[in-house]
Amino acid sequence: LVQDDPVLYRARVAPDRQALFEIATGRQLTYAELDRRIARCAGFLVALLGVRRDGARVAMLARNSVDSIVLAFACQRAGAIYVPLNWRLNAAELRPILADCAPLLLVHDEEFSCAVAILAEADPEMTVISTADGPAALAARIEASLPAAPVPADADGACILLYTSGTTGQPKGVVISRRNAFFAAVNFSFVGEIGPGAVALCDLPFFHTIGLIAVARTTLMLGGTLVVSDRFTPARTLAALADRERAITHYFAVPQIALALRNDPAYSAAALSGLHALFVGGAPLTQTLIESYLDDGVALVNGYGMSEAGTVLHVPIDRRAVQDNPGSVGLPAPLLDIRIVGEDGRDVGEGEIGEFWLRGPAVTSGYWNKPRETAAAFTDGWYRTGDLGRREANGFYRIVDRLKDMYISGGENVYPAEVEAALASHPAVLDAAVIGVPDERWGECGVAYVVLRPGVAATGEEIAGHCAERLAAFKRPVRILFIETIPRTASGKVQKHVLRQHHSEEIL
Ligand code: ATP
Ligand code: MG
Repeated sequence: LVQDDPVLYRARVAPDRQALFEIATGRQLTYAELDRRIARCAGFLVALLGVRRDGARVAMLARNSVDSIVLAFACQRAGAIYVPLNWRLNAAELRPILADCAPLLLVHDEEFSCAVAILAEADPEMTVISTADGPAALAARIEASLPAAPVPADADGACILLYTSGTTGQPKGVVISRRNAFFAAVNFSFVGEIGPGAVALCDLPFFHTIGLIAVARTTLMLGGTLVVSDRFTPARTLAALADRERAITHYFAVPQIALALRNDPAYSAAALSGLHALFVGGAPLTQTLIESYLDDGVALVNGYGMSEAGTVLHVPIDRRAVQDNPGSVGLPAPLLDIRIVGEDGRDVGEGEIGEFWLRGPAVTSGYWNKPRETAAAFTDGWYRTGDLGRREANGFYRIVDRLKDMYISGGENVYPAEVEAALASHPAVLDAAVIGVPDERWGECGVAYVVLRPGVAATGEEIAGHCAERLAAFKRPVRILFIETIPRTASGKVQKHVLRQHHSEEIL
């Protein structure tokens, strides 16, 4: 890499083009203005951190704003590492993350100042700055600073530390180098068909890879306009999408957001008619939802990716591709090698289930401070995703489940996702999750946690009968437990380790 700072280039070739629009405030910045602000913010970091800035972590606990983008790119220009924190976590959950990355600076929204006070107490060395107005706050510090020249690009230097969702355990800090970030954005520019004409609305938080890299970095790198939203509310998103003057072309959602949008009373197909595509990823998507959007003429495209590699697979933006490959996560991103590996370490045949292994310039080289986890996740330079899937004859891929969630009952592999789909097809079932637990007779067997729709009754026997009509005996859960809610991560993914813990405590 010679120069990987996307904003520098855009400020030179198209200084007056609109780079950012902030929905909450109506604030707008051209590429030239954004570039100047990043340069000043880098100047502020240089002055504050001095010689300690190389590789220093700069954490941010804030909602999406112009300043989150400015700080993220300023870190890269100053040689520091941007650590966007998940503001849906509480102080107790954030503490191990902060202890892990030990930032020299923490920038936060006032909204989170209670958590920050607790965190700051644990680390008196850390400088704490608010995003609010005031002489000591971020904006004033940026404006009072001299612009700094970017540090020369070191392709292997880290620029972002992105914590995983913590679906399978404690969140892990994924080290993202400048090369990784650059190529992850290039990958998404291909699969998302992003160009200078793109106007991308992002209300997904910048603390996950989709928001920060796929949406924000790619859009800015390609010279489009990034519409920054600090929260998802169906009404506001629908109004923004319907605004023909704003002309939003790209919108990004996780399945739960796509569902909330579709079910909102203010929803209309016309509001989404200006979209090039509606991108959905991060968790399994139901075919019903895909079809309901397709019926409305909206190209809903499913994508699969992760903090460690960015976008990995994506359904092409083409109605036929979506229709002809129901439930598929599509085709590989261009700058990525994918293998599907069986338990014996060999590539499986077409249509067979194995683990996705990845290699390419967007793939991380490992986790922060976690040599054991890093060693376990890499084999011969390939990153093992822990996700199971298969490739079909036409080259399209499908996700089956997480390797950690699969269990073996009477010698047969059971993929809980399949059992969950059967449970979810019962009219009384609102939500369901299945875990494998030790069993004397079968080795392991399935336990289903079921949430019933409000006001609807169903017995365990009825639901078991429903499963028996749809699933082979070894796949049927041996126990059905009714609970109020399924434990999920902030991004809506089921935390099976919490259910397993619950189950093992219950039987003691
Ligand atoms: P942790 O690694 O801490 O357990 P996590 O894997 O959920 O958490 P992320 O990096 O945010 O953290 O999420 C990536 C994972 O999300 C993938 O490995 C995959 O399991 C799941 N995922 C992503 N996209 C899809 C999709 N389209 N369909 C099904 N699952 C998906
Ligand atoms: Mg993961």
